[in-house]
Amino acid sequence: MTATVEESGVGPKPMFGSPRAHWPQIGTYIFILVPFAALIGAVPFAWGWGLGWVDVGLAAFFYTFTCLGVTVGFHRYFTHGAFKANRAVRVGLAIVGSMALQGPILHWVADHRRHHAFADRDGDPHSPWAFGTSPVALAKGFWHAHMGWVFDRKLTNAERFAPDMLADTDIRRVDRQFGLWTAVTLLAPALLGGLITWSWWGAVTAFFWAGLVRVSLLHHVTWSVNSICHIVGDRPFKSRDKATNFWPLAILSMGEAWHNLHHADPTSARHGVRRGQLDVSARVIWLFERFGWVTEVRWPTPQRLAKLAAD
Ligand SMILES: [Zn+2]
Ligand SMILES: [Zn+2]
Repeated sequence: MTATVEESGVGPKPMFGSPRAHWPQIGTYIFILVPFAALIGAVPFAWGWGLGWVDVGLAAFFYTFTCLGVTVGFHRYFTHGAFKANRAVRVGLAIVGSMALQGPILHWVADHRRHHAFADRDGDPHSPWAFGTSPVALAKGFWHAHMGWVFDRKLTNAERFAPDMLADTDIRRVDRQFGLWTAVTLLAPALLGGLITWSWWGAVTAFFWAGLVRVSLLHHVTWSVNSICHIVGDRPFKSRDKATNFWPLAILSMGEAWHNLHHADPTSARHGVRRGQLDVSARVIWLFERFGWVTEVRWPTPQRLAKLAAD
């Protein structure tokens, strides 16, 4: 699958599709800046009146659930084809990944395939090295790679980078339903918080912590893979770009911070390949394989890893 993706990446079709329309552009601003403002505003909130164990539990649940939707679903499965999934798992992963509010699935996959096709070179949608290597250029590049690029109205052309996804009517439907999954991911915590505490206030605090704050935290963890994991960390494997392994983010990113290995071997279902490199997403794929939900998982072999090693 990767071979065809890379082939399509150098095909004659234009890099960009039609530009993002007015309301989706405004929506991009709202759903990035409002959750972020909520996170900052959260600091003075005190335990006991505006935050409790129900909020913490719901936030942890929705964080884990939607993070895996992105890492196992959008990233390892849809973008890179690290395994094959049956129809129900395929559609389920598309929906849960959409609930992370990182954009509709077709945008996400097209952007990320473009990132790999041009990693840290001209055409990469979010390289921190886009402006040069001086401290000022790198500061600018960090902002651009982290979240500045998200506001770019020029959208990656899914016809060029994700024709396989466009050909799937179920995927196109989930893509069109992005507004619905946005509502679900924000209202479900509120509903659960309200029911568990049997109070309107419980619904409000759960909406805030397990809805807005959770969305924003996952945004920043995902973006940190694009920014930090192309600047700071180790490069134990051969990749043609500046991708790094950055261990402090391994748990929150559910294994995605082993980004140097990922760029060295993009279709591998496991990113944390060495002893002690926690990779929760790989463990979830392993479980799915045991249940028979996914097949043809591309697990790394010692021979392959030896070939990819930098020294
Ligand atoms: Zn990368
Ligand atoms: Zn990738």
